[in-house]
Amino acid sequence: MHADPDCIFCKIVAGQVPARKVHECDDLVAFHDIAPWAPVHILIVPKKHIVSMAQVGVDHQAMLGRMMMLAPKLMHDLGVTGGFRQVINTGVDGGQEVNHLHMHVMGGPRPWRKG
Ligand code: ADP
Repeated sequence: MHADPDCIFCKIVAGQVPARKVHECDDLVAFHDIAPWAPVHILIVPKKHIVSMAQVGVDHQAMLGRMMMLAPKLMHDLGVTGGFRQVINTGVDGGQEVNHLHMHVMGGPRPWRKG
């Protein structure tokens, strides 16, 4: 499925719901989390609707590599100099609430509310 009409992140990808986007390329969009846990909290999502890491396959390898490598670039561009966390929650027991694969990227001076 390329887009789920009921998915909030698909709507952000499509520009139907506003978001503070910081990156867009062929297969990824990145934007500020609406309820940040850290001074800088970005979500990186694939443009295609992939539910979670439990659904990925070899076709997604290149996209996942780009997602992983986009994080340090964005943190650098956003002025984060002291390090950052990259977190992907998968499924109910993994604490995933939005069922569209996303990587949390969090940085900035501690203490943070979560993590
Ligand atoms: P959790 O809420 O437990 O972190 P997820 O890993 O599924 O679960 O994370 C979903 C994230 O999406 C949350 O950090 C939430 O604040 C964020 N979020 C939800 N709706 C929006 C939105 N419209 N714009 C930006 N971020 C959003």
